[in-house]
Amino acid sequence: MHFEITNIFGATKLKDVRVPVRDFDDYFDLGYCMNVHRVQGSTINEPISIYEWNSNNMNRNAKYTAITRATKYEFVNIMPSTAPSFPYHKQFLCRKIKGYTAQDEVKSRDTDLTVDNVKKLITDNSNTCFNFHECNNDLHEENFTLDRLDNAHGHLIKNVRLSCLHCNVRKLI
Ligand SMILES: [Zn+2]
Repeated sequence: MHFEITNIFGATKLKDVRVPVRDFDDYFDLGYCMNVHRVQGSTINEPISIYEWNSNNMNRNAKYTAITRATKYEFVNIMPSTAPSFPYHKQFLCRKIKGYTAQDEVKSRDTDLTVDNVKKLITDNSNTCFNFHECNNDLHEENFTLDRLDNAHGHLIKNVRLSCLHCNVRKLI
């Protein structure tokens, strides 16, 4: 194993040094991967790759922190997320559920939606509109709705299905 040490405590042009494999862990910390919190306050003067950019864990502040570690914009390499992340923010689901619950309250209908059971419905149905054989719409925050199966009841988790706005509105016509 062979390492070129270019800078230690301000010294430059150190000659090459050899480090026995068994001692390696004692002398080096490998910076293969660090999370945003770990690099906060550090300056990185070489190329960096930022992973999980689209993950819900990466909010605006985390992205800002990650990008601004690099001394040059050219050093920043943003990697697409490897695993598909859940396509809805928790705040979005809360707002949506609050809206449906309010509608049901006005009409004295029963309702039992929670963030957890709606999340499960989305996952179980692969985030697909119930009308998928005719509908090519991808569901996302702009067109996501829950369509009631039996209009005599409110938004009960057993009484709703995923629907894009288009299919939900079309049903009423
Ligand atoms: Zn649809």
